[in-house]
Amino acid sequence: MSEDIFEAALTSLGLKKFEVPAPKLGNAVHLFQIFTEQARTRLAGISDEYVEADSFAFGFAEHRAFNAFAHRTSKDIICLYSTPLRVLWSFFNAMMDNRQIFPWVDDVEVLGGTAPAPKGDLFFLRETLPLDAAGAPFNPIRPRLARALFDVAADFLLLHELGHLRNGHVALLQQRAGARPFRELPYEEADKLEIPEAQALEFDADGFAVQKVFERVYKDNPFLEFSKGLLKDHRLAEDGVHTASWYFTWFAVYSVFRLFDEAMEISEIPLRMQPPAALRQACLLPAVAAMTGRSGWSGLSLQEWVDLATDAGLEAERTLTGLRRMKPDPHAYLQAWNGGAFDQIGLYLDTWETLGPQLAPLRRGATLVV
Ligand SMILES: [Zn+2]
Repeated sequence: MSEDIFEAALTSLGLKKFEVPAPKLGNAVHLFQIFTEQARTRLAGISDEYVEADSFAFGFAEHRAFNAFAHRTSKDIICLYSTPLRVLWSFFNAMMDNRQIFPWVDDVEVLGGTAPAPKGDLFFLRETLPLDAAGAPFNPIRPRLARALFDVAADFLLLHELGHLRNGHVALLQQRAGARPFRELPYEEADKLEIPEAQALEFDADGFAVQKVFERVYKDNPFLEFSKGLLKDHRLAEDGVHTASWYFTWFAVYSVFRLFDEAMEISEIPLRMQPPAALRQACLLPAVAAMTGRSGWSGLSLQEWVDLATDAGLEAERTLTGLRRMKPDPHAYLQAWNGGAFDQIGLYLDTWETLGPQLAPLRRGATLVV
């Protein structure tokens, strides 16, 4: 039933479903299958509405764009295009192959040394770990870090789309323009959203996603094991046991934004609804600082959050430009943090004065507006 709904949504956009390849012999499961299961668990954890497996439709479209859509017919529908997940997975893994990036990861004394991962099909993961010569599970540190970064990045993509559903954006679009999927790209006049409105909705979806992402990261603390090396290598304000998880979460979120920017440049999309990566990250910072402070999850001041997120974002920027053999541009990055974010947030809030009341009756769940 959900399958039919998903197919119908794809067909309405002229898209083809990405069929997740079956597991290979030797316990190797496709990354998209693993992510599908994670996504189902994640959605069920966020709302009772999604507890039944057939209560929503989720899947992938086979397409080269860095795109996704949220939609609602008889059920909520979330579709990620195959490309963003492939790009993120490839990026985090390629990064780990370069030992100049995070050199401390290989610090044997701190983390226990292991050889690099054996090469295989990049998109298939072993379900059960092979054993090393000593009979212990072989789970090398660099792929483990790549996987944890991917989990944060993919979670952000999923929750950004969920934000469009839960915060009433999909319903607003349907009121204005009839039943149609809420796509990330391209912006269309036919969607009957003014440009500042579409921009504010994107910011709202980002705010929804980033808060949920940091909530999970606080609970699971997935980067704890990387703390010692990271703190040895970076001068960061420590925040209990969560410093490394905060840092790598910003690293992963910035990577999503930056890889999205790169895809936009390549495809020459003339009009986009999100600011460039650094500004997009900076705009979300106050919400994360406020939420983690309010919940008692963090003792960092706003300035300490700014420093930590800037450091992580800059490192992601240097990593990406390094892999692409490009020169990093720290000035453009730092400029976004220099007042640019507050001007941008001001624009969102101006639009929100008229947009907020229209969305209020369409929102589902008790999610705070950023
Ligand atoms: Zn969006």
